[in-house]
Amino acid sequence: MSELTDLYAQIVGCKRCALAQGRSNAVPGEGPENAQIVFIGEAPGFHENRLGRPFVGAAGQFLEELLASIQMRRDDVYICNVIKCRPPNNRDPLPNEIEACAAYLDRQIELIKPRLIVTLGRYSMAKFMPKASISKVHGVSSKIGEFVVLPLFHPAAALHQPKYRADIESDMLKIPQILAQVDGVEQVRLDHHAEQLDLF
Ligand code: URA
Repeated sequence: MSELTDLYAQIVGCKRCALAQGRSNAVPGEGPENAQIVFIGEAPGFHENRLGRPFVGAAGQFLEELLASIQMRRDDVYICNVIKCRPPNNRDPLPNEIEACAAYLDRQIELIKPRLIVTLGRYSMAKFMPKASISKVHGVSSKIGEFVVLPLFHPAAALHQPKYRADIESDMLKIPQILAQVDGVEQVRLDHHAEQLDLF
């Protein structure tokens, strides 16, 4: 069992907050353990709670369309949420629920070590940029700690609101270039290291 699947077992049995009582299934997240990009949504909704998988409803279908716009499929990326259990009637996550789940998300990121973290909506943005306003920072990537983070609007909001939809569609198209820049920076670091070792 990998450390990530071991973590899934912990999440599935989690009772750290009251959401455990109302869930049909916890939704740990899914995708390759060596994914280059991690997408982080807010919380499971109706369909996710039923199936135990993230982004399988209308927002998920839209996310897949957005991924297709940059020639990617959902199996190419890792997808998870800030909280792993559905809040009643899809209400916003409460601070104590976010707090109770934080260590799971931290561990997922630590194990996957993605090149890019894409936050979907305010709650996942707030994990990395607690004071930012999503209307101002969406589509702008920044280095936060050891990770590059790109905040996007939430696909569920963007699906029905034309102004957010245009933004999420154009912000998504920035991902290939951001990834290439991240790779470029890593290459410079490697070259520098090789120079220091006198490999050239
Ligand atoms: N919205 C989310 O934030 N996460 C899901 O998994 C589904 C919808």
